[in-house]
Amino acid sequence: MSASIEITNVTKRYGALTVLDDVSLSIEAGEFVVFLGPSGCGKSTLLRMIAGLEDVTAGTIAVGGERVDTLPPGKRGVAMVFQSYALYPHMTVAQNMSFGLENIGMAKAEIGRRVEQAAATLEIAHLLDRKPAKLSGGQRQRVAIGRAIVKEPKAFLFDEPLSNLDAALRGRTRLELAQLHARLGSTMIFVTHDQVEAMTLADRIVIMHDRKIEQIGTPMEIYQRPASRFVAGFVGSPA
Ligand code: ADP
Ligand code: MG
Repeated sequence: MSASIEITNVTKRYGALTVLDDVSLSIEAGEFVVFLGPSGCGKSTLLRMIAGLEDVTAGTIAVGGERVDTLPPGKRGVAMVFQSYALYPHMTVAQNMSFGLENIGMAKAEIGRRVEQAAATLEIAHLLDRKPAKLSGGQRQRVAIGRAIVKEPKAFLFDEPLSNLDAALRGRTRLELAQLHARLGSTMIFVTHDQVEAMTLADRIVIMHDRKIEQIGTPMEIYQRPASRFVAGFVGSPA
């Protein structure tokens, strides 16, 4: 399943601080979009507003044509994967993956089916009875993704999911995310400040800077025709 995401004239303020100023963006169903920009430019804030973890100050957000910006996070059809993984330490892998579904009252058999299927997809079936403390960083990462997959969301939202991994694992996980996208066909938004991740993963890159979207384009377009000096500097295009 996948859905389009429509961000229309979204502004976010924290008191007197404007973090995002009148941002609009259309993401197609099934697209892999990367939000790229320096630390503090508002990438996480925009992602969290799509997820429903932050309110918009102004503007609207729609998923699959349905306005969601006033809906609670669980009703938006999107699932977020955090940089810190945010696993429950006292629960096993299976329990971590089941928890969100139990909370919405899903039948046990259906939960079991989804957990099993996600575990197979991520090759973590042998880890289902372990606690997070007994997992490697890469395994925790998979569990965090598994917890999103079992929700069968129309869109996945990743906030710098690779930045806690060492370089080798980062490369491998990047490849696996691309494969996951190909397999599930879901819409994916991936936040990073890493140009290489953006260039290798994205169908389209959204460059964010100074409260605005500076440029939207395919990796090739951004690299070959940067819209500004900032973009050129940031993605390392020849000046
Ligand atoms: P990024 O993810 O691109 O690094 P963030 O979206 O986390 O950036 O933050 C964008 C800006 O919003 C930063 O200046 C940050 O300090 C500010 N900010 C984020 N969350 C809050 C908050 N809860 N209260 C006040 N300011 C915040
Ligand atoms: Mg961030």
